[in-house]
Formats: sequence, structure tokens, C-alpha cells
Amino acid sequence: MSGPASVKKVCVIGAGTMGAGIAAQVANAGIPVLLLDIVRDPDDRNAVAAGAVAKMLKTDPAPFMSKAAAKLVETGNIEDDLAKIADCDWIVEAIVERLDLKHGLYEKIEAHRRPDAAVSSNTSTIPLGQLIEGRSEGFRSHFLITHFFNPPRYMRLLEIVTGAESDTALVERIADFADRTLGKSVVRAKDTPGFIANRIGTFWIQAALNAAFDLGITVEQADAIAGKPMGVPKTGVFGLVDLVGIDLMPYLQKSLTSTLPADDPYQAIARPAPLIDRMIADGYTGRKGKGGFYRLNRDAGKRKEAIDLSTGDYRPAIKAPSVSGAAGKGDLAALIALPGDAGAYAWAILGATLSYAASLVPEIADDIVGVDTAMKLGYNWKFGPFELIDKIGAAKVAERLAAEGRPVPALLTLAGDRSFYRVENGKRQYLGLDGDYHDVVRPEGVLLLEDIKLSSQPLIKNGSAALWDIGDGVVAFEFTGKMNALDGDVMALIGKAIPLVQEKYKALVVYNEGSNFSAGANLGLALFALNIAAWGEIEKLVAGGQEAYKALKYAPFPVVSAPSGMALGGGCEILLNSDAVQAHAESYIGLVECGVGLIPGWGGCGEMLDRWRQNPALPKGPMPSVAKVFETVSTATVAKSAAEAKEYGFLRPSDGITMNRVRLLSDAKAKALALVEGYAPPAPPEFRLPGAGGKVALELAVEGFQARGLATSYDGVVSGALADVLSGGEKDLIDIVSEADLLALERKAFMQLVRDPRTQARVEQMLVTGKPLRN
Ligand code: NAD
Repeated sequence: MSGPASVKKVCVIGAGTMGAGIAAQVANAGIPVLLLDIVRDPDDRNAVAAGAVAKMLKTDPAPFMSKAAAKLVETGNIEDDLAKIADCDWIVEAIVERLDLKHGLYEKIEAHRRPDAAVSSNTSTIPLGQLIEGRSEGFRSHFLITHFFNPPRYMRLLEIVTGAESDTALVERIADFADRTLGKSVVRAKDTPGFIANRIGTFWIQAALNAAFDLGITVEQADAIAGKPMGVPKTGVFGLVDLVGIDLMPYLQKSLTSTLPADDPYQAIARPAPLIDRMIADGYTGRKGKGGFYRLNRDAGKRKEAIDLSTGDYRPAIKAPSVSGAAGKGDLAALIALPGDAGAYAWAILGATLSYAASLVPEIADDIVGVDTAMKLGYNWKFGPFELIDKIGAAKVAERLAAEGRPVPALLTLAGDRSFYRVENGKRQYLGLDGDYHDVVRPEGVLLLEDIKLSSQPLIKNGSAALWDIGDGVVAFEFTGKMNALDGDVMALIGKAIPLVQEKYKALVVYNEGSNFSAGANLGLALFALNIAAWGEIEKLVAGGQEAYKALKYAPFPVVSAPSGMALGGGCEILLNSDAVQAHAESYIGLVECGVGLIPGWGGCGEMLDRWRQNPALPKGPMPSVAKVFETVSTATVAKSAAEAKEYGFLRPSDGITMNRVRLLSDAKAKALALVEGYAPPAPPEFRLPGAGGKVALELAVEGFQARGLATSYDGVVSGALADVLSGGEKDLIDIVSEADLLALERKAFMQLVRDPRTQARVEQMLVTGKPLRN
């Protein structure tokens, strides 16, 4: 054994885009990190690294998950502080992409690192063999490439590349740390140019740009075809290039053309693009520059414009017709069969990119699963290349390539008329290079509803929710409605789930695999009810939700909620009513009802009060906690990470945080099982609240905001209703306010607001534009 048992301290050298972001993610995981860069200013020797941290604290989306995380980063410089790397278990090099500089740095690292410490490079293009030239045997066996994607907090992919001399146990430990602690999904890549994701991704971008130029279609048309219909983010390709920086294109092209063999298909499609060169020379490098293929023309009232690919001039943006029918909804066979430019463009991209990907296994990865994972997590594709081939049919792709006189990759021939993936006996399997199917094996501690669904049926379900047996006596409650919106059906299924779990199971986990846990109540439904003045229906939904959530809270078994992505409004209140939460680190939690002119109506007010009054950091007495909840809820605050959600009281200090998305269900299940023995539901809380006097104080604060233009006149009405609930309504300090009293106050305030046309206008605007109306 030649590596540290676990990683307790990390050093990142190079505090640029990647190094700073990697250091932040290490700190997000609660691990101390030393961030070093060169000395640029002799009077302020740590300025580069310290400046990078300061800049990150102002960056949006934030690299840090909390201010506390930022404090775990110690900054320094490579002249004065290299000796400190002796304390570090893992040293990550993320300096400029120059072999000579990397060599020089490794020599210095070698002099200071502990013999058991791992050293890795974040290089995108330099082969491992060249990086370790001239180093000792010990250094070489402790060296690997860890290729993070930008931005390191948000991109889930980590490609790990090892050499023949790499110490396997050490590599396993770093991979495990990256997975569990840093939350990255690790894909093992071979030591080839561009590794997996950039090799295929760069080819795909180039193919898409070329085809748009060749067919003479507009950038809007191109992105409408290459985006959503292919399961690619809706930026498509031109929008993506604007986002990452147009100046990166020639750089990537040069790097790959100079390192790939002459007969690599990329060489044939990499061609000069005078328009792109001109754009870069003129400072049109994309969103970070003066504009890109798209821009907002500030001189023309922020008009959206796009580049005319034939003239290179900007023109007003057009709305390209979206691809309709099955072809627009993921039926790729229909997409490539479309007549005219749409089908031709789709096939130009897919035919080239998918056959290229198929030709690269096993050159770049041992199997197709790694390739698909890399493209999904590194480029945010919904489906990997082999999953895309399956959507068309491997045989059909091969047939069309052959008919066009193009080479058919051996892997496509091997597949024949079979698919690359199949489900056999409830297990997902992939086609191996041996021509046989093999189970897709999940790492230990990874449990996915997606897999459970292959081998079982829901215990019960309706149109908005389903209940699944996830083993060991635990049941998962899944929201299944459009965007996981909450409605009467969700509440009804909670009602049915409780006796079922009580009778046959031990615990319940509220979990789903949507990109957002739930953005709250179904506003569309609410607006419909509003428009027909179905007040009784609305009141029923409010009361029904309160009842369902409290039934969960007082159920005779543990309930653990496990959010990832947005958990807003009613999606947050279900967390507040759970015994415990196991949250994905990337959870965005908040009570946002005031934004649409409402207040939390499913028990959120009382639960938040209960949490804050137990917070030892607040002064004694009822007012501090009331003021805290008022401040958070009246401003519709959303925590931008699970760590931040703890600061706002949406999560308890004891709630768990899972860094890796795919480990969330397993962690939540373990947390629920740990609560089973001796479980007793909580006792209903009783409050002493400040009453009318407290309400006046809160309203005064809002008037102050209004005077400074920070709150609108209707904000005053909405927060007045909230203040009424939080201060206990008619009750006074000497009275006891029960949980039921607070729920009744919530209902009353909610119903009063919902009848106000100004609330209705807010709801309507939110539904139509997704942005709040400030009336
Ligand atoms: P960058 O230019 O933003 O930052 C490089 C940093 O390294 C600078 O702060 C510079 O001062 C510092 N530096 C230069 N020489 C040094 C030395 N001898 N010792 C210490 N510090 C030194 O670069 P980046 O984009 O962060 O890229 C860093 C590495 O990550 C490169 O190897 C790059 O190929 C790779 N990479 C970049 C991306 C990306 O999207 N930018 C993605 C994956 C990998």
C-alpha cells in the first residue's frame, strides 16, 4: 500500500479558471485546501491565488456552496509555500497547458511531497507519458490525470487517466474520494488526445458548424434541430460555442489536429473558418466578449440578434420553427428522415458523430457505458452516443452509412440488428466488445429508481405520484406529474401510502429523479381554479395539503425527504414536515410563495418558526425567530445549495448532504433505516408568539423597504398577511398557539390573498414568463 488511507487535505496549484474551481469544490466538500499560484506582485505575493478566491465569491453561478466553504481555502504562492504540500494527501496541478512549465513544477513538487501523496494533472491535451518524463519511480507511480470539466462545481464528470506505472490502489482511493466526497462521476479514460468527452464533443461541434455552413441554414434553424430534438441543451451548438467561448474553437482544433493521427476522421472535418477567425480578431468571442453567433444589441434596445453565416453580419434574430411531431420529441429515426434541410442537417451531425464515437471504442474507453456517461455528464447530453444510436437502430445507421459509401465502424457491424443496450430480467445490459451483453454494474452505494423501475411495478400510483418498494423495508414516494408539480393527486397518494407503509414497511423516503425535486404547487391548476372563482376547490387543496403533510409528519414510521435541484414552495414544505432530510448538495430550497402573492400554506410557517426558535444563535423570546422567518419568507429567499439551506433553516443542522447525485437515494434510505429503531413521531409543537405588537414591528420593517424602493405596494399587503400568521393572529404573548391554530391562520391568509386580483396577476405572469411580477 503506497497511498494515504483517505484524503484529508488537498493542494491545488494554479488558481486560474479550473484550479480555483477545483479548490472551491474540495472546500465545498468540507476538506481543507491549499491553493497556490505564481508570485506576480513581489509586494503582494499571494495576490493571484487570493484574488481568485475573492473573484469566486462574486461569481454567479457561485463556485462556493457557502461562505464557510470559502474559509477552508488557504492561499499562497509556489515560491514561499511549497513546503506546505507535505501536509497534503493529493496535489492537483492545474497550471497553464505548457509541458515545460508543468515539468518544472513537478520537479519542485517532487522535492516536497510526502512519498504517499497522489499527484494529478488537470491537463486537457498532454499525454500522461510526457508529463511524467524525467520523474522518479515513486512520483510516476503516484501520478495520474484527473480531468475536471468547467465549471468544476456544476459539471459532474471527472475523467481519470492512468498509466502503466500508476499504483492501482492509490488511483482507486483518489477515484473514490472524487466520487463520494467531491460528488463527481468518475469515468476511466484511456490516455488518448481529448480523452473521451472532448474527443467526441469537439468532433460533434465541428460537424454541426460545418453542416450549417454547407447547407446554408441559419444559426437559429441549426440550434432548433441540433438542440432539444437530439436531447442536447437547447443552446444547440452555436449557442454552446457562444457560451464556452468562440476563441476556444481554433485552440481545440489545433490541439486535436496536431495530436491525432493523420487518418483520424477529425482531420478531414477540421477546416479553417474565416468567419470565426474574424469574429475572434474583432473581439466577438461569445458571451464573455462583445457577442457571438448571438448577441443582445444594446444600441438597438437590447434587441436579440444573430450572425448571418453567409455575410458575417448581425441581423435581428428570427424564431426558427421548432421541429414538430415525433421528430421533435426524441424520435431520431423520424428526425433524420425529415425532408429538406432539417433531416439533412440532423443526419449530417448524427451520421458523422455517432459513427465516429462507435469507431473510438475501445481506443478511448473500455466500453460504451463510459463513453455514454462522459457525454451525458461532460456535455449535458440527455443521451450518450450509443443510446442515440439505439434510438435510430444500429442496423439502420450502418445501412445508411454503407449506402452513402461511408465506412461502417466495426462496433456497428458487431451490433448488427441488435441494440447497444437492452433490459434482461429486470437488469440493464450493454453490448460488450465480445459481442455479448453484460450487466451495467452500479458502484456500491449507488441506488437508482431508474433501475428499480426496470424490475418492478409501483405499489400504488395515480397521475401525479407513485410508490415504489426500494428494498429493506423502505418505500420511495415519487412525484410523477409534469415538472413534479404538487396537486390533489399527490396529497391523495400520500393519504394512501401511509397505511400501506405502516402495515408492511419500515420507513418512507420522498425522492424522485427529475432534474428538480419539485417547484411547488401546480400553479396552472391554481390559476384555472382562480379564473373560474372555484374558491372551494382552492381551499380544499390548501387544507388537503396541510392534512397530508401533517399525516406524514405524525406517521408512525420515519419519513426522510431527499431533494435534488429545486425544492420550492410546497416542495420545500414537504422537507420541513419530514423527520429528516438527506439533500443532494445541489439542492435549491426556498419558500417562494410571496413572489406570487401568496404565503406558505402547507404548514411551512409553523415548521420554520419551530426550527428558528430552537436555534441557539438567536436571542431568547419569540420575536427573534419570528423576525428571522419573516425576513426569509417575505423575500422569497432561495438557498443556492444544501449548505446554504442550513443557514436559512430550511434544513436542520442534523440533516445529511450527499455530494454525488447518484448516491442520494441510497444515503436517504440508510438515514431512514437508522431512524427506525425506537421511532416515535414528534409531539405537536406549541408556540408563544408576539401577537399584534410583533406584527406592527414586522410591518414597520416592510414600510422601511417600501420607502427605499425595495418592496412594492402589494409586497406590503402580502407580507402583512404573512406577518399576521407568524405573529399568531389574534393571540397574544400569554396565549398558547397550537400547530392547528397556525395552520388555520395560514389557510385564512392564503384564501384572502388568493382572491386578490394582484395575486392573480402575479400567478399568471409567473406561469406565462417564469418571472415574478413586481406589482
Ligand atoms: P488559466 O489560464 O485560467 O489558469 C492557469 C493558472 O496557472 C494561472 O493562474 C497562472 O498564473 C497559473 N500558473 C502558470 N504557471 C504556473 C506555475 N509554474 N506555477 C503555478 N501556477 C502557474 O487555465 P485553466 O483554464 O484553468 O487551465 C488549467 C489547466 O486545466 C490546463 O492544463 C488546461 O488544459 C486544463 N483544463 C482547462 C479547462 C477549461 O475549460 N478551461 C477544462 C479542463 C481542463
